[in-house]
Amino acid sequence: PGEEMRAQVLVIGAGPGGYTAAFRAADLGQSVVLVERWPNLGGVCLNVGCIPSKALLHAAKVIDESHAMAAHGISFTAPQIDIDKLREWKDGVVKRLTGGLSGLAKQRKVTVVTGEARFVSPHQVAVEHEGQTRIIGFDHAIIAAGSEPVRMPFIPHDDPRVIDSTGALELDGVPARLLVIGGGIIGLEMATVYHALGSKVTIVELMDQIIPGADKDMVMPLMKRISKQYEAIHLKAKVTAVAATSAGLKVSFEGGTAPASDTFDKVLVSVGRRPNGKRIGAEAAGVAVDERGFIAVDRQMRTNVPHIFAIGDVVGQPMLAHKATHEGKVAAEVAAGRASAFDAKVIPSVAYTDPEVAWVGMTENEAKAKGIKVGKGVFPWAASGRSLALGREEGLTKVLFDPETDRILGCGIVGPSAGDLIAEAALAIEMGADAEDIGLTIHPHPTLSETIGLAAEAFEGTITDLY
Ligand code: FAD
Repeated sequence: PGEEMRAQVLVIGAGPGGYTAAFRAADLGQSVVLVERWPNLGGVCLNVGCIPSKALLHAAKVIDESHAMAAHGISFTAPQIDIDKLREWKDGVVKRLTGGLSGLAKQRKVTVVTGEARFVSPHQVAVEHEGQTRIIGFDHAIIAAGSEPVRMPFIPHDDPRVIDSTGALELDGVPARLLVIGGGIIGLEMATVYHALGSKVTIVELMDQIIPGADKDMVMPLMKRISKQYEAIHLKAKVTAVAATSAGLKVSFEGGTAPASDTFDKVLVSVGRRPNGKRIGAEAAGVAVDERGFIAVDRQMRTNVPHIFAIGDVVGQPMLAHKATHEGKVAAEVAAGRASAFDAKVIPSVAYTDPEVAWVGMTENEAKAKGIKVGKGVFPWAASGRSLALGREEGLTKVLFDPETDRILGCGIVGPSAGDLIAEAALAIEMGADAEDIGLTIHPHPTLSETIGLAAEAFEGTITDLY
């Protein structure tokens, strides 16, 4: 077909992976076309993921702390929640960022094309928008089509009372009783928000712990806290049916401590995300997509077709924005002829719950499963002056070391701001630091970051002073 436009680098999808790739390719002198089917740039992360969730979690934290201070001599009247204004503020944060991206694209002369792209040949896509189709040719393409929430066949997803994370972030009212299906990061973050806004929350999780990717000791402080706050948390249990009735959503359960059935005002389905690899006409370009929709890539982010790259959620776990951006840079650099490869040793994970749970590198579960011997240093935050001064004492910092070389292998942190703290451990792993390096690094006092140095000292047996 006749080409309306040609790019040296064409990027499909403007999420964190896609816009980073487009900007990097443009900075390296390539002519770039960025195709996005949504009206705004930013993908899931900026529009319906990382950013709006963090804005609402900030609101939740302020509400919770206003309650908590009553025990320490400062009482506030009950917060008055203006849900419309809260939604406006959250939308404003998103708009500022997505608008900023449009400006950055213009500055770099990245051509943004609105529409849904599908490959029609190994060097062309067709982009559909409002009934119009345009053909765009390319030398290199980067697939950054992301992922979407998993749906389940026995759940009436068309009922407006059944929501996914996008629906939860729309903040369309506060249900009296909310069931969250899936005790992973996204479900627990949304539970945190709705609990603070006044919902009675129930969580149902198939595995024997919430946040199954993290070690149990890292999850226990969170579990303990939310067990007191929420109506129920059912582990090793599953939902077998959801029936829409005029009285609410009647949910049938099986296993664990769950009742046979119960009725909720809203049900949030957060059981995982599936990649969008099957929706881009990959076969027309010869790009291999597995049965789940993932696209396999090598360390240069190339698919089986050497001039076509893939990055972000569509290439596999962990589905995280910071993985997508780093992969995006690599793909753009390789497309522009540079020698680049994805070479991260570790990718940190964070649940922005209260307390936050963060981990990076090897977990104890993983070490056990692989039969790898690890040494560990643990520092309980009950011995951190700063933690007590925050009115909190449940946190824990655990650092895993190679028992022969003393090199850091992994780290888990649970407590307020754990997500910010975990970056130090990620750097230590990338730099090949050992316990002495970390223990001898002077951390500012009194901070929560000291707990990493102290955990390293605990491993070495050199720990002396607490508080
Ligand atoms: P996406 O962000 O999914 O973007 C893909 C883009 O491609 C979309 O804009 C889509 O419209 C577009 N697209 C798809 N197909 C086509 C097509 N054929 N033509 C044109 N456009 C197309 N990650 C974190 O690291 N930290 C967090 O705190 C965090 N919080 C989250 C909270 C929630 C509620 C959710 C749902 C996710 C969260 N994530 C978080 C995950 C994060 O959002 C994703 O890992 C990240 O957005 C993936 O980036 P991506 O570029 O691969 O794809």
